[in-house]
Amino acid sequence: MQKGNISVHTENLFPIIKKFLYSDHEIFLRELISNAVDATQKLSVLGARGEIDGNLGELKIKITADEKAKTITISDNGIGMTAEEIEKYINQIAFSGAEEFVEKYKDSTDTQIIGHFGLGFYSAYMVAHTVEIKTLSYQKDAKAAHWKCTGNTEFELGVGKRKTRGTDIILHIAEDSLDFLQKWKINELLTKYCKFLPVEIEFDDKIINNPNPIWKKSPADLKDEDYTAFYTELFPFQEAPLFWIHINVDYPFNLTGVLYFPKAKREMELAKDRIKLYSNQVFVTDQVNEIVPDYLMLLQGIIDSPDIPLNVSRSALQSDSNVKKITSHISKKVADKLHELYKKDQADFESKWSTMSLFVKYGIISDEKFDERAKQFCLLKNCEGQFTTIEDYLTKISAVQTDKDGNKIALYTTDRDKQYAFIEPLLAKGYDVLIFDESIDNHYIMHLEQKNEKFQIKRVDSASVDKIIDKGETSESVLGEDAIKLVTESIENQFDKETFKVEMQALSPSDQFITVTRNEFDRRMREMNQNGGGGMYSFMANMPEKFDVVVNTNHDSISKLANETDEATRNLKARQLSDLALLAQNMLHGEKLSSFINRSVAAN
Ligand code: ADP
Repeated sequence: MQKGNISVHTENLFPIIKKFLYSDHEIFLRELISNAVDATQKLSVLGARGEIDGNLGELKIKITADEKAKTITISDNGIGMTAEEIEKYINQIAFSGAEEFVEKYKDSTDTQIIGHFGLGFYSAYMVAHTVEIKTLSYQKDAKAAHWKCTGNTEFELGVGKRKTRGTDIILHIAEDSLDFLQKWKINELLTKYCKFLPVEIEFDDKIINNPNPIWKKSPADLKDEDYTAFYTELFPFQEAPLFWIHINVDYPFNLTGVLYFPKAKREMELAKDRIKLYSNQVFVTDQVNEIVPDYLMLLQGIIDSPDIPLNVSRSALQSDSNVKKITSHISKKVADKLHELYKKDQADFESKWSTMSLFVKYGIISDEKFDERAKQFCLLKNCEGQFTTIEDYLTKISAVQTDKDGNKIALYTTDRDKQYAFIEPLLAKGYDVLIFDESIDNHYIMHLEQKNEKFQIKRVDSASVDKIIDKGETSESVLGEDAIKLVTESIENQFDKETFKVEMQALSPSDQFITVTRNEFDRRMREMNQNGGGGMYSFMANMPEKFDVVVNTNHDSISKLANETDEATRNLKARQLSDLALLAQNMLHGEKLSSFINRSVAAN
């Protein structure tokens, strides 16, 4: 029996391992099983090369827990180790890694860095006070070896008794970690980290993993049913997905995976565990914010890449060039898929558009390259239920909806019912009215205006029907100057000057008598702030909103008002007309509404 001392520098190793991985100490099982998988796969490779005599047998990893003896054992029948290899790989290499680790991270609070320094094996000491290795190498005439180390700097290494090829790692669980001995707990960890490991893993006489998940297969060998079945395996209880993307790249980085587009609800749900990150089929994390851009978080599924550095800090991840490439690859794949679906069956794509639009618009706003691609399939929908891409739309409206300065003006409603009174006259004029009713639309509209020259987008109530697309045509007012002055005065008397600005316009006699409009820019900024936008215009949220009262001097009822000589009657009529205008827009409330009703009833 050889006894030895592990170098002085590592005296602090075990407390540090415990401290650093405290929040995450369940990963010990993943680390040890990954080593067992590696050992098994190395054996398969040797076997395939004909370097091993005889049959390899059934390759399997077994996990056992003994609550009485307080041990967890991870057994594999992989390549095993000789005493020399233990000396080299467990004692020396790991501990030199440990020194570097202790040196570099002694002041840091970062977790998830152990594997980076080849300390995977030592993560066992997060839960065990003593660890034993019983192993027999595959090599001809190899002798079994036995290694044992209690959580200090001393180890024992000697001849072992193991008769069959492979390795047992025996963890003697520490008092503060006895929870890990419970079967349900082990099951939970196995399901979380090992569900798709490439070697069969047995616990309680059951195989707990699917060693051949579909993302490792070739898309050509898979049917739609395979994808939907896998989706159900990952996300039970969810409706079938709308579509999916199979990612399969091996150059210049390695990335595989399947991402599903769920049948989403109308509003974005940024659930955190929608995309799971794997590295060679080992589960790493479901916190993928640094790898997957926000707008893609709506997707669900799995990405697997050994090229994502798993054990560095999160901020380092964001600037990692592989991560950047992977991110843009995923984004490109998603855009290409959407474009393909659009080209393949436009009507079908349109019918699904409402479940995708939020996501696509979010992508457009946040990712320049996605925007460039999404132009080809991001759709605008109008009141007649027709869909158009932005480019086609600009062509479509150019003849009728260009103002005197050459700006193309698109019109939209956020609520067809509430804005009915504004929509109808615009449609009657031959204008097209779009529907923008999603929370992201204010941002999206701004984006469209910025990206397209001489293009403005206005809500139907942002100006009177004649002025919303100002073609520079002026109509004569039937009222003379004195009459206009009289009307202006009596209408102004009805409104709070702080909030309402009264303006006379000579509109068509068939247009509304009085319209209350709200400035497009003002309203947009205000709404964006209310939705938690903050930033530049946040002060506006606290200011009272302002409205324009547009009086149609060519309307019959306004002429009558001007002709009323009795001042009291004129004021009463002005009150009535103003209230009606407010009522038309659901802006008459409380006491004012009651007094309007009483007045109207009394007049009948
Ligand atoms: P890493 O896996 O990152 O190399 P570890 O500390 O987890 O670092 O393991 C150190 C080395 O010990 C491995 O590279 C491998 O050579 C050897 N090893 C660990 N576990 C096993 C095992 N179950 N079978 C054979 N070799 C093993």
